[in-house]
Amino acid sequence: MSDTYQHRARKRFGQNFLHDAGVIHRILRAIHPKAGEHLVEIGPGQGALTEGLLDSGAKLDVIELDLDLVPLLRERFGDREGWSLHQGDALKFDFARLSDRPRSLRVVGNLPYNISTPLIFHLLSHAERIHDMHFMLQKEVVERLAAQPGGGDWGRLSIMVQYHCRVEHLFNVGPGAFNPAPKVDSAIVRLVPHAQLPHPAQDVRQLERVVREAFNQRRKTLRNTLKGLLDATAIESAGVDGSLRPEQLDLAAFVRLADQLASCTPEGARDER
Ligand code: SAM
Repeated sequence: MSDTYQHRARKRFGQNFLHDAGVIHRILRAIHPKAGEHLVEIGPGQGALTEGLLDSGAKLDVIELDLDLVPLLRERFGDREGWSLHQGDALKFDFARLSDRPRSLRVVGNLPYNISTPLIFHLLSHAERIHDMHFMLQKEVVERLAAQPGGGDWGRLSIMVQYHCRVEHLFNVGPGAFNPAPKVDSAIVRLVPHAQLPHPAQDVRQLERVVREAFNQRRKTLRNTLKGLLDATAIESAGVDGSLRPEQLDLAAFVRLADQLASCTPEGARDER
């Protein structure tokens, strides 16, 4: 880092910089980067993880929004082989630009918490290029990602992410590992896109629709929440008990409802066999 420039963490960019060497090593061990791999780091900040990622000999693209961090990052890593900096918003970044090979990108980041959910959804739209993802997120978000049916954490985020990925909650990180310290606990999660979807939907947009509608009012029965999309007979035809609440349904059941919806909408009718 430059001796002359002291970067002040900016709240609007979600800047909580990692400074605990033990936590940094633990994250790098979990990622286990290797020479020949293609890594993408979102929000390198001052480079807490970047250094270790590059030391592995892997190719590394970093995407950083804060213009003020660019000179600092260039000074620190500009001459390292395989390192490229993209200044801009990761939410708008076209990840397909980086690789056209399936399952080739390993995406990592201590993510700004304010964009973590939309960013994960954006990355899922490129899931076929991604080998795996390791993220630091709010612990509460990781619990929702890794949730199982039946509990209060199971919802839209768990279902849509688990549709595309295997989710592993690896370990928790306390506020003291960051500067400035956030007000909440954090956790590291590993997301691995499925090579083959375990429960493929005819049309994933119908799955998004049915899940969003179902969890709009999570305390009501499915028969009630899904009234605008599917009637009681259609719910029953999907093999789902309409008197259950949405949090009691697993992914496979939501996919059956989505397929039922696809078969009764003009858009979905195209997929009907
Ligand atoms: N990786 C560093 C670390 O662990 O110390 C910084 C982590 S900090 C929580 C989040 C980083 O993401 C900051 O550097 C911030 O400027 C950057 N950032 C915020 N929003 C971004 C966006 N939309 N696209 C890319 N980077 C972003």
